[in-house]
Amino acid sequence: MRAEAVELRRVRLPLAEPFRASWGTQHDRDVLLVRALADGAEGWAECAAMNEPRYSPEWVDGAHALLRAHAGSIESVVGNPMAKAALRDALLDLDLRAAGTSLAAHVGAVRTEVDAGVAVGTADSVAELLDTVARRVDEGYRRVKLKIAPGWDVEPVRAVRERFPDLPLQVDANGAYRVDDAAHLVALDDLDLLLVEQPLPDDDLLGHATLAQVLRTPICLDEAITSVRAAKQAITLGACSVVNLKPGRVGGVEEARRIHDVCVDAAVAVWVGGMLATGIGRAVDLALAALPGCTLPGDLSPTGRWFADDLLTEPVAMVDGRLPVPQSPVDVRDLSDVTTSVELVRLSRGA
Ligand code: MG
Repeated sequence: MRAEAVELRRVRLPLAEPFRASWGTQHDRDVLLVRALADGAEGWAECAAMNEPRYSPEWVDGAHALLRAHAGSIESVVGNPMAKAALRDALLDLDLRAAGTSLAAHVGAVRTEVDAGVAVGTADSVAELLDTVARRVDEGYRRVKLKIAPGWDVEPVRAVRERFPDLPLQVDANGAYRVDDAAHLVALDDLDLLLVEQPLPDDDLLGHATLAQVLRTPICLDEAITSVRAAKQAITLGACSVVNLKPGRVGGVEEARRIHDVCVDAAVAVWVGGMLATGIGRAVDLALAALPGCTLPGDLSPTGRWFADDLLTEPVAMVDGRLPVPQSPVDVRDLSDVTTSVELVRLSRGA
């Protein structure tokens, strides 16, 4: 279906609890929603770009400006995968709604529910970290991921492992180490971790390949996997044996599906990461997480994890540590109370 225009809508949602990262603490999420319009039909997507360009080069103001200026010729724009993903996935959602097909069916999902996992940030003390992990375990999550960084790694992770000997546990460094840290990181091998995620910077594939020779713990790449080509190169170099899939990071759900297929062919395990998603983005994540190659639990949580009340869509509840995979398009609520701006962009050159 040929879209005539896209609506760019900004909504500001308070977070249920502060999002704490190495660059600071965030108390709300400023979300760009894209609504594709055609002949009375619509399709929705959420842009993964965050409030500020600190996790990735893209940020919500930049993605908004890019789509305002270039939505009609997005395929000739270089870079900007999160902005592209939002537009492409809104157009895909438009087509799927018109065809009466669910995204899960479109991508080839093979499960109707998936295991829920949760990421836990750094804490002021090990005792505080243990309390947070205990709360997450009590809530029913089937896997916990701990953020690590130089000065906050082996000791807190060991404390969690000792307190929860059977908990499926993994760590994520967001590129905070250098390959020279290998002799330090090898201590993680004794902690029975599912994987260590993105230990080195995103452009250091050779460093990851070297580290993979030293560590027994499987190396997973996140930020480094920006395309099918990047995934093939990382796998060929031996830089990873696990891949974190995020549709926003790779330019949309179709590229994410292709990366999944490359990983399956190479016997590389896949799981789906999270980006403070609302119910709109979460529906995409859940459909991908139901693919056959997604054999590890994702960073997938019920909507209440980040937003006190899901203001955009029906809440997604966790039952027995699992989340349902949507079998129909997301029902987007009246957004007038949370909208901070809305504008219409005509697609004069088609999209
Ligand atoms: Mg990560």
